[in-house]
Amino acid sequence: MERYDIVVVGAGTAGMPCAIEAVKTGARVLVVEAEPRVGGTLHVSLGQLSGAGSALQASRGIKDDAAAHMADIERINRGTGRRDILALTLPRQGATIDWLMENGFDMDPACPTVLHLHEAYREARTYWGVDGGLSVLATVAPLFGAAMAEPNAELRLATRATGLTLSDGAVSGLTLAGPDGESSVATGAVILATGGYGSNAALFARLTGGRALFTAAMPGSDGSGIELAEAAGAALRGQDLFLPTYAGVPQQDGDTRIVWRQMPSLTPQVRQPWELHLASDGSRFVREDDPSVDNREHALNATADMAFWCVFDDAVLAEAPPLLPGWTEAELAEAWATRSDFVTAPDIATLAARTGMNPEVLGRSLCHYNRAVEGAGDDPMGRAHLPRAIRGPALRAIRMRGMVLKTPAGLDVDDTLTVRRPDGTPIRGLHAVGEAIGGSTLSGRGFISGMSVTPALTLGRWLGRRLGTDAMETCPR
Ligand SMILES: Cc1cc2nc3c(=O)[nH]c(=O)nc-3n(C[C@H](O)[C@H](O)[C@H](O)COP(=O)(O)OP(=O)(O)OC[C@H]3O[C@@H](n4cnc5c(N)ncnc54)[C@H](O)[C@@H]3O)c2cc1C
Repeated sequence: MERYDIVVVGAGTAGMPCAIEAVKTGARVLVVEAEPRVGGTLHVSLGQLSGAGSALQASRGIKDDAAAHMADIERINRGTGRRDILALTLPRQGATIDWLMENGFDMDPACPTVLHLHEAYREARTYWGVDGGLSVLATVAPLFGAAMAEPNAELRLATRATGLTLSDGAVSGLTLAGPDGESSVATGAVILATGGYGSNAALFARLTGGRALFTAAMPGSDGSGIELAEAAGAALRGQDLFLPTYAGVPQQDGDTRIVWRQMPSLTPQVRQPWELHLASDGSRFVREDDPSVDNREHALNATADMAFWCVFDDAVLAEAPPLLPGWTEAELAEAWATRSDFVTAPDIATLAARTGMNPEVLGRSLCHYNRAVEGAGDDPMGRAHLPRAIRGPALRAIRMRGMVLKTPAGLDVDDTLTVRRPDGTPIRGLHAVGEAIGGSTLSGRGFISGMSVTPALTLGRWLGRRLGTDAMETCPR
């Protein structure tokens, strides 16, 4: 049986930088990746990054540090993240931005900036490349390719890790399934960089209180790394910290997959709402123009089905900036003509019948909003942007879903990123990084700008370097 110092499972956002650093130490490294290509979620991620103390911030005269970043995060998520893991990554994230820049990262000239897609930081410390996650991939993949060409490195694509072997409570090997069938390798260190479970509806339901999954995650985010560690005795955390992203429209009628290009424009700082957002019974549940996306996400999370109808009329459609700017004219025409979640109706009773909303509740929601628009009273939700009444004809409604970009629960790790059992003891030789440790470990119950991709890169590099160095000290070549 082949023996390696380190096996990195997953060649995505965290796995590639992890392997790059591990190979540099001289340790013998195997990387296994289930897909036939590397990159993982970077193929679809927006790739927004965050880091305090970067050279780019300094060049713009922005004074920022890890303590200010930590304080901002804990303000946004009310201290629901893991402070010890944040303390590991935040002081290194500025250097991660510098590392990308030194290796040719195609930074958007607008960065660093304050971003409003997620609850805004108080400092300009969000960055992204001109091609989003693909810009990160374009920088990291060549470095990874060069590392895999070293004599102490091996990459097996289309090869899935299927199980962990333990001896005396410590990891001693891994079973694999690849193009040549099943095999086993021996190793004292496995790093699970396998991502989240945003494409595994059953696991999502188990870890999120039975909720239905609407998702933009990559199909490879199947939670298999989490499941194989669980089978080896690992504990999970973060099951209570789910929050949906506000909000998406599935690509196909009746489907659960959402593509980012087709996301509705629901950020008031980018486009003020002209529509009403109504819960499935027709009631208001949110102040649509609330500048805090965190408030809107929590309001959606509190609804029974994490779904709402975006209700407007033909006049709004004609006057307002586009609600679905990423859809082509042809896609929209087809959706209005054929889809059950794009509804038109001549009047309130028909709209209620076609959407399942309660006609009285729907009527009341429209009536109170229209009165506020006409100055005859305050909007019941405290909404300030009241551009025009919604009366039809025709009335229109589009079904929107609370959705998943990253999954909150994951493997419980200690502050060396060693996976723990439910009794808190470490499983020696088993490590995890990236979304496999749960999105909530760093973001808590919230969405913190850049706090998935950047820690995946940063802690991936840190872990690879540390375990590689340990391996070489234990068994020098
Ligand atoms: C549409 C979208 C937009 C996003 N935008 C942002 C953003 O702007 N900023 C941000 O910080 N975060 C963002 N995120 C989240 C972020 O991109 C992910 O959390 C992060 O990229 C995950 O990195 P990872 O290394 O943990 O997993 P991945 O990059 O998904 O890599 C995991 C790899 O492991 C492989 N794998 C899985 N199981 C196995 C197995 N059993 N054996 C072998 N290989 C396996 C997979 O095939 C995959 O290649 C976004 C997510 C989505 C879906």
